[in-house]
Amino acid sequence: MELLQKKILTEGKVLSDHVLKVDSFLNHQVDPKLMKEIGKEFAERFSQTPVTKILTLESSGIAPAVMAGLYMNVPVIFARKRKSLTLTDNLLSTKVYSFTKNEYNEVSVSGSFLQKSDQVLILDDFLANGQAALGLIDLTKQAGATVAGIGIVIEKSFQDGGDRLREMGFKVESLARIKSLKNKQVEFLIDNRK
Ligand code: 5GP
Repeated sequence: MELLQKKILTEGKVLSDHVLKVDSFLNHQVDPKLMKEIGKEFAERFSQTPVTKILTLESSGIAPAVMAGLYMNVPVIFARKRKSLTLTDNLLSTKVYSFTKNEYNEVSVSGSFLQKSDQVLILDDFLANGQAALGLIDLTKQAGATVAGIGIVIEKSFQDGGDRLREMGFKVESLARIKSLKNKQVEFLIDNRK
């Protein structure tokens, strides 16, 4: 996605060979126009896939997921990282190792929002080693629902999450795929800029 690649190049900060900071449009401040285009792009890429719900992880997955939900006309559920006093019914939980925080988080959703008949599109901001996506797949399976596909805003292709999920047979669509962050430079797998 050309617009996203341009934004990454102009505003992204390479913190190390493995970490990209995009706090100015995705992870802290959010660019609504870009999120709208991202939502539209996900809807196009999954237009041939039956989807009844979108499942993401708080907090950075929420903005792109809501925009995708708007274009796909389906509800959006976000797994919560903190226990909530009101989140008690039929709770589904799994442990996710956080790439950026270097710790395990228990993430949960209420099973009342996921039915066996649901075709769930999993969306997230970044894909690194696949732990967040695997956690969301686990929650979907616990509910007896089906994973329809996985949509990622920024995939770091030099880490193994993408290969793992594709080898498991999932349709993975990433809007920007980064080949390398070496020498403080962002290099895309395919450069879509004209
Ligand atoms: P994974 O679970 O695939 O190893 O890592 C994905 C999760 O870690 C995402 O939900 C995202 O929040 C975070 N993450 C992984 N790599 C990066 C990165 O380079 N930059 C930022 N901002 N977040 C990342």
